[in-house]
Amino acid sequence: MSDALLEGGAKLPLVEDFYTIQGEGFHAGKPAYFIRLGGCDVGCSWCDAKYTWNPKLYPPVPISTIVDRASSCAAQAIVITGGEPLLYPLGPLTRQLHDRGLEIFLETSGSHPFSGEFDWVCFSPKVKQPPLDEAYVRADELKVIIGSEKDFEWAENNAAKVTERCLLYLQPEWSVYDRILPAIVEYAKAHPWWNISVQVHKFMHIP
Ligand code: SF4
Repeated sequence: MSDALLEGGAKLPLVEDFYTIQGEGFHAGKPAYFIRLGGCDVGCSWCDAKYTWNPKLYPPVPISTIVDRASSCAAQAIVITGGEPLLYPLGPLTRQLHDRGLEIFLETSGSHPFSGEFDWVCFSPKVKQPPLDEAYVRADELKVIIGSEKDFEWAENNAAKVTERCLLYLQPEWSVYDRILPAIVEYAKAHPWWNISVQVHKFMHIP
């Protein structure tokens, strides 16, 4: 989607925005307003948001509209997710959200350059499109999706590159949750610098 169409980030291709409970990682359980942007070029086979991949399906929406909606509910925190939100200039959106006193959490694969200011960066690297070096520096948490035992090696390769402050999470891929969870539990017990993240929103049957 062209910069001209997005007016330098004054408009963004919005898929959906809604108030719910963050279900994953360090902030799991926290009420948060989700802003989901369309467009992703990573192509994970197990992606549960494939409907977001084509940004042309989501006409650009003025960010003032999104910020007004987000700040009109009781949310204290915002999750910017996708798709891959770093496909777009996020400076204007994050400035306006911060001006309203909201905390901002980013979910990213780290495969595109950073823009915008965030209070927390959840970095979830994907084998299909390896991340940029910048993502390892910016990450507050590393969340690696585990679909099979071979993904533990990918997890360790990424953990070796993040900073000391970065928290480490292994998250079972939802479609194989029952099969893979026992292996993740045993792996975390043997490598206790890892935490386990489960998608608690799925157990709560909320978006
Ligand atoms: S990076 Fe995220 S949105 Fe993109 S394909 Fe992978 S899981 Fe889906």
